[in-house]
Amino acid sequence: MYLEQRREWIRRRRRQKMIQRLLILAGIILAIVVGFIVIKKFTGHDVVQLVSEQAEKERPEGLLPLPEFVNEAETTAALPETEAPTETEPPTNPALNEEWMLILVNKEHPIPKGYEVPAFTELRNSNRVDSRIYPALQRMFDDARADGALPYITSSYRSMDKQQQLMDEKIIDYQSEGHSRAEAVELAEAWVAIPGTSEHQLGLSVDISTEDHSVQEPEVVWNWLNKNAWKYGFIQRYPEDKTEITGIINEPWHYRYVGEAAAKEMTEKGLVLEEYLAQR
Ligand SMILES: [Zn+2]
Repeated sequence: MYLEQRREWIRRRRRQKMIQRLLILAGIILAIVVGFIVIKKFTGHDVVQLVSEQAEKERPEGLLPLPEFVNEAETTAALPETEAPTETEPPTNPALNEEWMLILVNKEHPIPKGYEVPAFTELRNSNRVDSRIYPALQRMFDDARADGALPYITSSYRSMDKQQQLMDEKIIDYQSEGHSRAEAVELAEAWVAIPGTSEHQLGLSVDISTEDHSVQEPEVVWNWLNKNAWKYGFIQRYPEDKTEITGIINEPWHYRYVGEAAAKEMTEKGLVLEEYLAQR
């Protein structure tokens, strides 16, 4: 009887221990599950994900991938100065000087050495001018036409060769009239600038007349220009009363671009370019 009771006690005891273990195990599982749920609720992340995000944050910035393109200007600016392209000589073309529009050209002052018109604009009748004077020239012509004048450019830029050709033709003309070679040269030089001394070689001068004298006398155009050209930066370069200073006979058709400020002052004071430059 005692033995039977003891066996029963041992069985009960085992059951109790088994239940205890199961409860502990269930408690541990419950704790883990609750733990996961709490983390998910407060961080919004699964635990595995959270760990990898932490690793991402800890990556040093220097190892981040480069942007797809690099700002070119910044790259250039960042280059050390010694690696920048070096200009061995300053620009030697006098046409690029700040006061290009006031360059004096006459018998005593030939075209400056190395002078090259930076850019040409070709006009409708294939004449060419320095592109820098074109907008003012176009405005002047538009306004003249609005006032009933019919200006027409008969000559503009001339190369050295073209100027030489004009001179040769003029000399032949005088010789054919019976003048000696020396006389013909002297007479021609009164009409045509010696090559290298013509303002036309600057690309800043234009001869303006009318296309058809039977439609309109050129004087109509010259009178309009005489009154208005200065407003557009042009001056009548060889006026009748200044031939002793300019060395050129009266040329009511020859206009030179000098810029608006100079043109205004020269017109107000009655100065030709030689006088204007001397009094500055
Ligand atoms: Zn001319």
